[in-house]
Amino acid sequence: MIRPQTPSPVYLLNEPLFDEKGVQVYLKRDDQIHPYVQGNKWRKLKYNLLEARLQQQNTILTFGGPYSNHIYATAAAARMFHFRSIGIIRGEEPTIKSPTLKFAASQGMELYYMDRVTYRHINEPYSIESLRVQLGDFYYVPEGGTNQYAIEGASEIVSEIDFAFDYITSPVGTSGTLAGIVAGLNGRNFAIGFSSLKGEDTLTTKVNALLLEYTGRSFTNFSINFNYHFDGYAKISSGLVEFIHQFRAKHNIMLEPVYTGKMMYGLYDLIQTDYFKRGDVIVAVHTGGLQGLCGFENHFPGWSSSSFS
Ligand SMILES: *Cc1c(COP(=O)(O)O)cnc(C)c1O
Repeated sequence: MIRPQTPSPVYLLNEPLFDEKGVQVYLKRDDQIHPYVQGNKWRKLKYNLLEARLQQQNTILTFGGPYSNHIYATAAAARMFHFRSIGIIRGEEPTIKSPTLKFAASQGMELYYMDRVTYRHINEPYSIESLRVQLGDFYYVPEGGTNQYAIEGASEIVSEIDFAFDYITSPVGTSGTLAGIVAGLNGRNFAIGFSSLKGEDTLTTKVNALLLEYTGRSFTNFSINFNYHFDGYAKISSGLVEFIHQFRAKHNIMLEPVYTGKMMYGLYDLIQTDYFKRGDVIVAVHTGGLQGLCGFENHFPGWSSSSFS
């Protein structure tokens, strides 16, 4: 089986708007790292798997919702590197499995379902300990994959870029990817995260805490933009869907509506409204997540046709 490929390619995007505003926009194609272990999910898993090996753990246990890109990627990566994997899935066992869960099971991931109330406490040490009692020992990867090893992995997005740039942008969920990027910048340039979640004013605090723990210092060269979450996680609008279809038609690059679509929509809007100055070079990170599109078709039948409204 092919292994994840890094450095990921980076392409200049041609767009009349960018010429008009005098900016250059590159897309760092982390979606091309691997067909199953895509994007930032590989970045976040890489050093976790190495650490699991070092600790001589054979089992990886992690958490996620039924459409989670992280569950999907972890199941595939665990299989690839010969780990046993366990996925604790939020909510009751569905009568019809999502495409994500079907895939995870096909990779040998053992799936257990946890009711939403219990699931709220999964980050507590007692939750993890009680799982160890029930399931045996394992290497624990938190929901979304975000921990200190994830930051180390995500920082490599920056070290792979071998040209000068002013800004780097990334979607934000749990914020581990953004924290890794800021760690990689090490005080240079500026990172903009586009939040997929509504009203999460705690996210900036979280990035700061992750960075302080990882680097021992704090950084001011980043911000999180909350203007393009489209009413919250996994919420979409016809304008967003239209944008994604146009982007694909022009560039032959697929985005998804939960993370990368919102980031690119936001980035275009900031360029349009002169947030950047002439001459600025921007690198946008395509964090992958395209597997989630199958789930989207389930939730919003017909989303992929441009007549969605
Ligand atoms: C999980 C995910 C994110 C969010 O990354 P965080 O590190 O949790 O902020 C962004 N984009 C895609 C495509 C994802 O799957």
